[in-house]
Amino acid sequence: MRDNAPNSWETRADSFSLYGFTDLPSVRRRGAVVLTHGEGPYVVDVHGKRYLDANSGLWNMVAGFDHPGLAAAAKAQYDRLPGYHAFFGRLSDQTVMLSEKLVEVSPFPRGKVFYTNSGSEANDTMVKILWFLGWAEGHPERRKVLTRVNAYHGVTAVSASMTGKPYNRVFGLPLPGFIHLTCPHYWREGQEGESEEAFTQRLARELEATIIKEGPDTIAGFFAEPVMGAGGVIPPSAGYFQAIQQVLRRYGIPLVADEVICGFGRTGNVWGCQTYDFVPDAIISSKNLTAGYFPMGAIILGPELADRVDAAAEKFDEFPHGFTASGHPVGCAIALKAIDVVMNEGLIDNVRRLTPAFEAGLARLAEHPNIGEWRGKGFMGALEMVKDKATKTSFDPKVAISERIANRCIDEGLICRPLGQGIVLCPPFIITEAHLDEIFAKLERAMTDVFAEVG
Ligand SMILES: *Cc1c(COP(=O)(O)O)cnc(C)c1O
Repeated sequence: MRDNAPNSWETRADSFSLYGFTDLPSVRRRGAVVLTHGEGPYVVDVHGKRYLDANSGLWNMVAGFDHPGLAAAAKAQYDRLPGYHAFFGRLSDQTVMLSEKLVEVSPFPRGKVFYTNSGSEANDTMVKILWFLGWAEGHPERRKVLTRVNAYHGVTAVSASMTGKPYNRVFGLPLPGFIHLTCPHYWREGQEGESEEAFTQRLARELEATIIKEGPDTIAGFFAEPVMGAGGVIPPSAGYFQAIQQVLRRYGIPLVADEVICGFGRTGNVWGCQTYDFVPDAIISSKNLTAGYFPMGAIILGPELADRVDAAAEKFDEFPHGFTASGHPVGCAIALKAIDVVMNEGLIDNVRRLTPAFEAGLARLAEHPNIGEWRGKGFMGALEMVKDKATKTSFDPKVAISERIANRCIDEGLICRPLGQGIVLCPPFIITEAHLDEIFAKLERAMTDVFAEVG
């Protein structure tokens, strides 16, 4: 609970830190949680209280908070070459090795990689790549971007325009030309008597109708997360990507998989597109790419887009884009180690091994009359709260049901995330059965208390 002394961590945090994506009434009342260090999947605050972080930080700290190999890789690279850019034909050996590695582990037979500092910048850059292709290939009108309602693609002006969340209206976004299609959430969006397959087909028809209405030659690309993350953990309806890709191919529109959350193991395979059995034209990676130990994003272009971008760059003598820290040698060294840790130290295997227990825990809690559905894939899961299960009626937003539950979890020493009227869990890949038991026991106590209070 908050310490109101003028020199307390809580007061100092309030005084000088502008909180982003933070429920201000909660933080004013309870105080910010100020952290000092981590131990495996736990973080510890300035008061010495330990929290099991069932959200892996922000989906990304998949190897936990004290992995010695990752810290050592960072230290070794800081001692060799602590920073460099990737402009003017100069780049670090780590950057060369990471690009090679990313193409090797991608679903593409060959391809090319470009680096950013974040997932938002990677999506932004991908849009600029598509616009660049439009310019070079004589189709400058190909500028519109298709995404879905509830999609999360980031916060820069372009990636926020791709994000399909209502809060972006406070910024006057989306920009013109960013179009949001129906969210492929069958439980919420399926119509009375409509089968899941029919729902999927309806969304494919909606996509085609939108392409025709807007003009196929005005559309630069379609972006999708294999499983929507910040939209509330929404796996696609059955056959969704096959149906969508068929339509996109008919019109020559690239499909970009935003694998910022799904990539590197979250769904039980290296890529979410492998879990859903499709091969996109490009992949966006970030978050798990460095296991959260360095800010970094990457765009992996498949063979066709890589060739087209090469040709476009030849035409102009360069691809005029890049960030000062694109391909940062320390970030690349950490990413190389993180990929090795996730793929070869048994982390993905652990996700697969514990997924049945994770799902069983979610399913058990979903028996409660105030939980409308559980959903998830691999180590990403959500519980959707409802006031009335039969009619799927949500709670009054004023009740702030998910914030109350998440705050009660904090009291219990568990970090989980309120999202809309859902609670999201995405634990680090290093957890054990005992950690899962701890997560579900604490969450159940918190939910039982809060549901009793709100009646
Ligand atoms: C987090 C996220 C982003 C944005 O990444 P940042 O590093 O926060 O800019 C983009 N896409 C998806 C799917 C994400 O989850």
